[in-house]
Amino acid sequence: MNEVSDLVQGILSGNRRALARAITYVENNYSEGKEIMRQIHKETGKAHIIGLTGFPGVGKSTIVSKLTEEFRSRGKTVGIVAVDPGSPFTGGALLGDRLRMEGFDSSKNLWTDPGVFFRSMSSRGRAGGLAAKTGDVVRLLDAFGFDIIFVETVGAGQSEVDIIEVADTSVVVLMPEIGDDIQISKAGILEIGDIYVVNKADLDGADKTVKWLKAMLLLSEDLVQSLTKFSHADEPKAQNMESLATKSSDWIPPVVKTIAERGDGIKELADAIEDHFEYLKKSSKLEQKREERVKRELLEILMEEIKELVKSKLNYREIIHQIIEGKLDPHTAAEEIVKKLKSVIS
Ligand code: GDP
Repeated sequence: MNEVSDLVQGILSGNRRALARAITYVENNYSEGKEIMRQIHKETGKAHIIGLTGFPGVGKSTIVSKLTEEFRSRGKTVGIVAVDPGSPFTGGALLGDRLRMEGFDSSKNLWTDPGVFFRSMSSRGRAGGLAAKTGDVVRLLDAFGFDIIFVETVGAGQSEVDIIEVADTSVVVLMPEIGDDIQISKAGILEIGDIYVVNKADLDGADKTVKWLKAMLLLSEDLVQSLTKFSHADEPKAQNMESLATKSSDWIPPVVKTIAERGDGIKELADAIEDHFEYLKKSSKLEQKREERVKRELLEILMEEIKELVKSKLNYREIIHQIIEGKLDPHTAAEEIVKKLKSVIS
């Protein structure tokens, strides 16, 4: 037996060291990593994947550790992936790790619980797309057999939105005192959340943030509805936004207030998470989401492979020099490369 099949056997039989080692291979883009992913693929697709996002300091780690305790008490095993898409120059992963450790300190027993696995990842010094890698690490945890997998992202930005797309259920965490407009106007926040959490409800302004958020969510729901169902003149106009929203058979993102440090609201949040998974399974949304994910992942992997191919073949350096010297422009160069690729395919 070679090492890859040992690791695959290890993962499927619940060996945590094999899992940790396989994750390292996948993170570093080693060919062993790809082979492991190939072999475990058919064992994936069982876990409920939950993404958490929000500004640093809103309480994501604290929430994840409390939710982990809650789901453990419900008999579920839990894998946690903390992802830092931050710039390689900021040292963000170190800070993120420290904060996460603090978050976990309040429940030290989680570290020794065999039903819990924690791993943090950063983009620093690694080749390849972080979103695709996060997807692979999640699949390793899925094949290992965790019922629930949390993907917690640190920081704010587009890459974070990409990463949360690996999730079945996306939880957006906010807190009072950071300006509501700042938090909510953040790229696409009203589109990405399946559940919203207003944490640190012990601080002033929590109810205001909850109200604001609900209004914004209903407003966007109202817009969608008015563009679809209520576009005909003969249809009754909704009395108000609330009644309009409850008429929808679609999922309306709930807003849950928590004081994570004390565990307040965590049961409600766990219930909302389970409800959302039930909703996904009953409607055809789970398959849709997973199909979208497969498409994105396939394209991302393909892009990486094609980039490597182009760089290693096709006079890449020569072409770059020609562009610098003004003999060629990037569009023409790209077209010529694609032409060459096409001639091989057809
Ligand atoms: P993350 O960066 O989003 O993962 O945030 P952390 O979970 O590390 O929390 C940041 C800080 O907020 C820590 O010092 C926590 O102890 C604190 N914190 C977490 N939840 C609450 C809460 O409900 N109320 C208050 N006042 N502080 C909290």
